[in-house]
Amino acid sequence: MSANLKKILVVEDNPQNMRLVEMTLGAGNYVLLKATNGEEALEVVQREHPNLIIMDIRLPRLDGLEVTKRVRQWPDFRDVAIVVTTACAMKGDKERFVAAGCDAYLAKPFSIRALRKIIDGILREKKSK
Ligand code: MN
Repeated sequence: MSANLKKILVVEDNPQNMRLVEMTLGAGNYVLLKATNGEEALEVVQREHPNLIIMDIRLPRLDGLEVTKRVRQWPDFRDVAIVVTTACAMKGDKERFVAAGCDAYLAKPFSIRALRKIIDGILREKKSK
């Protein structure tokens, strides 16, 4: 396996949404990691050191906002890219997500193209830093 293959962690409790993201990213040159609740997400982050996290907000155990805040508190993970996805965004939510430490926000339902674009943009940006 190439050392610079990007690891993407998908945190999603809805199997259909998980499948959509898998199909979107399956064709790309990524290592896909999965978590279906907030606690599992934290475990996978510490164990696998992903380059990017696609984070659902409504999750069992810990919600995506709380997971994002905790990940940002760990010195090793201040730079990991976090893309929040949610279907229930209300006014002010985007600001809350950014305040919690996410890099980008994508409203559900999103197109495969929109997800691809956001991921490619973020990974390119991180690489050039
Ligand atoms: Mn959910």
